[in-house]
Amino acid sequence: MCEKKSYYNPEIDTCIQKFVERIKRLTPFKTLCSCCGHGKYPTTVVIKDKQGNVFELFSRLPLGEKKRNSYYQSDKNGFYFIPKVERLRKASNFINKRIKSLEERLERNPESKRFQGKLAAYNEIMIILPEMI
Ligand SMILES: [Zn+2]
Repeated sequence: MCEKKSYYNPEIDTCIQKFVERIKRLTPFKTLCSCCGHGKYPTTVVIKDKQGNVFELFSRLPLGEKKRNSYYQSDKNGFYFIPKVERLRKASNFINKRIKSLEERLERNPESKRFQGKLAAYNEIMIILPEMI
């Protein structure tokens, strides 16, 4: 984690510089912009493949073509995040909590068809969630 810079600063955050340089050097992807998240958000790197598809590296979310750095939005404290990535993260956290609680209920009640059905449904939602965001 490093100190945050002003919005639209094209420099790579120092703490992820080596990582981003490795992506540039070792993969066929072009890195468009990135942010370490500065302890508030997960690290994000926006990359473009040879076919021109733009997506965020860690979440694998497709982002589409945008003007440089306009992938990010600033929150009221000046921290940058990618709205789509943030929506996925929040939805994943929510569903993972539901899954955990259902698993606990199933431990106490292993025969419950209702809990089994709900758990299967939530697990399916997790798989298709990136496409629903
Ligand atoms: Zn940093």
